[in-house]
Formats: sequence, structure tokens, C-alpha cells
Amino acid sequence: MPAIELGGFRITSVREDIYWWDGGAMFGVVPKTLWSRLAPADEQNRLPLAFNSYIVETGEHTILLDTGGGDKLDARRRERMKLPPEPRPLAEAIAAAGIDPELIDIVVNSHLHWDHCGGNTILTDGGARPAFPAAVYYTRRGEWEHAHRRHPRDSIAYIDANYDPLVDAGRMRLIGEDLEVAPGVQLSVAPGHTRDMMVITAASNGATFCFLTDLVPTAAHVMPTWVAAFDLDPIQSIDTKLTWLTAAARGDWVCAFAHDPAMAFARVVVRENKFEAVPYNRMK
Ligand SMILES: [Zn+2]
Repeated sequence: MPAIELGGFRITSVREDIYWWDGGAMFGVVPKTLWSRLAPADEQNRLPLAFNSYIVETGEHTILLDTGGGDKLDARRRERMKLPPEPRPLAEAIAAAGIDPELIDIVVNSHLHWDHCGGNTILTDGGARPAFPAAVYYTRRGEWEHAHRRHPRDSIAYIDANYDPLVDAGRMRLIGEDLEVAPGVQLSVAPGHTRDMMVITAASNGATFCFLTDLVPTAAHVMPTWVAAFDLDPIQSIDTKLTWLTAAARGDWVCAFAHDPAMAFARVVVRENKFEAVPYNRMK
């Protein structure tokens, strides 16, 4: 998987797997005649999507952003997404990228949907255990509270074994405000997809990396009005997206998307008054 040097940081893209998900759910009110030009669907209307995680090595800290789908889905759900029957541990993908998973000392969950925190824990006979034993985990308290409301609209997206054992063991910090989790690495609330989802930026020597997570799940979603049907507040998503994409384009940031199967890193540019994602491939 690709890695880039940015300022004094090294950022590595790590991917647990590719899964297939309904195209209509990904693009909401956008007609299929439009989205299918950018993302062709299979015979069941599914698109290939990635569980994208990122590792920021600051020199002092090794920070993992989101942890993929994990090992808690039953065989039927896995098959429906064309996932292999046996889940691939995220630590394996991290080791394959040349990073020792035991060095990870901070894990950030942008939010607690299963496909962003599934690799937090590993199921064992004795219950769910931390997948990264040396790490302190972070997410927003409001997100965790929402997960426990079990609202019919989105309760299916939350699997408590991904986070409650960590909260109970004092290994997960539920934060109520934006936080600089390590020097230059900022967690900022970015509401819309969920009310408490966080975008993560890592800034070093004037260069900025931004993990946009489900605010912009794929490169096609840089169109501000292309909002997934999952988003709980689509109007808010559009406003939040405009704010972050404008900052990304002005600041010449290197951005990353939660589920794009092809583009690990991208610049956001404005052409003819429209945002566009341009692949960024400065391999080092
Ligand atoms: Zn989500």
C-alpha cells in the first residue's frame, strides 16, 4: 500500500479488504445514470469499496485512523458484501505495510459505525480483546451515546463489542471537544454523516494531511451534493463538506477518503467552480 512523506510525518494507507455495497445507499438522491459513470455497479447494484485506514507516524507517535470492518459480522453479512469467509486481521495488513502493529500507541475512530471500528478488538473465547494492546483509543462521547440509543434508523451500524470492552477497561477516551491528540494531529467534529463524526488532520512543517472519513467516502463524493443515503443530516453534510473541501483546496492539503477503492491519497482542486479529487502519488 502507498505511503507518503508529508512535512516530518510519514502517512501510510492500510486496507483490511474490499467489500461490495449497494450503490444507491452510497449516492442517496443522485440518479444512477449519473453515479454509475464514475462507479460502475455489479448485477446486484453493488459497488466495490475499501475499508481504508491510515497510519500517521510523527516520529514520537504511531497513530492509527479507523480500523476497518473487523471480525464481528456473521457469514451471511460477509457473503452479501463479497467478503472472504475469514476476516483478515488489520494488524496483518499493517505489518505487510512495514509497520510494527505493536508500536501503535493511539487509535482514533472517526465514528463508531462497524466499518470504521471493527478492527479495534478481536473476538476470543474470553470475549473481545484490544487488537492494539499498547494503544489508547479515542472517539467522541456523543457518538458513543448515540450508538447506545439504538435508534431504529441506524442501530444496525453499531456493534458494541467493537468499543464497549475498551470503554469498560478505561482504554477508550470519550471526548467532548475537539482535541489535539498528538502535536499537529487534530480531531475535529464534522457533523452530517453522524452528529459527532470527526475529521482528522495531521500538520507538519506547513504540509497538511486530512482524513475526511465518511464526510467524503469516495473521490466521487467531492461533489458537495453527492451525499450518501446513510447520512443522518444531509443538509448539514453539504455545509460541513463545503467548509472542509474549501480549506483542503486552499491549503493544498493531501486528503484521504474512507472507502475509495483506488485513490489512497488525493488533492482537492477547484476547476470551473467544481471540486475535483486528483490522485496524489508522491511515493517515497
Ligand atoms: Zn459511517
